[in-house]
Amino acid sequence: MSALELVSVTKAYGETIAVDAITHNFASGSYSCLLGPSGCGKSSTLRMIAGHEVVTEGDILLGSANITDLPPAKRGTAMMFQNYALFPHLSVVDNVAFSQKMQGVEKKARRARAMELLELVHMEDYSERVPDQLSGGQQQRVALARALVTEPQILLLDEPLSALDPFLRTRMRAELKKLQRELGISFIHVTHSQDEALALADDIIVMNNAVIEQSGAPQQVFNAPTSEFVARFIGGHNVMKTDAGLMAVRTDRVQMARGTTGAADEALSATVRDVEFLGSVVNISLDGGPTGDLIATLPDSRFFDQPVEIGESVFLSWKAEDAHHLAA
Ligand code: ADP
Repeated sequence: MSALELVSVTKAYGETIAVDAITHNFASGSYSCLLGPSGCGKSSTLRMIAGHEVVTEGDILLGSANITDLPPAKRGTAMMFQNYALFPHLSVVDNVAFSQKMQGVEKKARRARAMELLELVHMEDYSERVPDQLSGGQQQRVALARALVTEPQILLLDEPLSALDPFLRTRMRAELKKLQRELGISFIHVTHSQDEALALADDIIVMNNAVIEQSGAPQQVFNAPTSEFVARFIGGHNVMKTDAGLMAVRTDRVQMARGTTGAADEALSATVRDVEFLGSVVNISLDGGPTGDLIATLPDSRFFDQPVEIGESVFLSWKAEDAHHLAA
């Protein structure tokens, strides 16, 4: 297994720069998520890795091989599309065996191999159905099996969970992660969902406006966002204007006490604007005056021990080590 490296990769569509000279090393055998808002260049990046889109400038390396200009089937990558792109008139087993048929693998051998993959995704009992006779989640498993039948070093997934309902999405998320662990190959997964990236990834690559804003382990990106964009996009943070510049503090690191004065270094007075009960936690929206709007997230038990009312004055504090400076 080899690492995948993007070296100053650019994608231009006419005047539009969709991806602007990005450089990143995807460790072998890792689960990476390309995370960012719509239009930031995630899919273009994935399609260039897959070979479905021509690279305008830069290089894509897989181990010691330069795969920048290789056709999709020759790269050691496989792609699973958002809409699964199954052939509607072919049975499940023939869908999975299709690429091997194109490679001239004999029927018995390719069906046997396709059945192995269907077992891997727990779809062996559905092999003779056509895609229309399957649920969305089942179609996705078939699409996974079809992508994996080529034994890729890297599986590329473009918003693979977005077509599923929330319950199934959480379940398939866990299954994708388990599959990646079992196979030991690299998965590169495009998503605009922070939760999905945090739950799945060994490495999160946050993109914005065609560039990589920040990359790292989920805990690192979540605990210490380096820019205002990442702090706002990853969620769970207050972005505050202070004399020293912009700062981020996790909403669950903000302590709240009744009254308007206190002794902590990092502290301010605020007024309760709204209280939102979210089950295990309560989000309290606060007006922090010149510091801006803030949220304090408290465990439900702590909130209900000493509930605050809308309009009440409170005193907020946090540890200096929980505050991170942000690039504008
Ligand atoms: P994302 O996957 O993050 O939503 P994309 O990579 O699809 O972003 O798109 C990045 C930018 O490139 C967007 O501005 C989009 O409109 C543009 N774009 C994507 N595909 C094409 C295309 N085939 N032709 C022209 N512009 C495109």
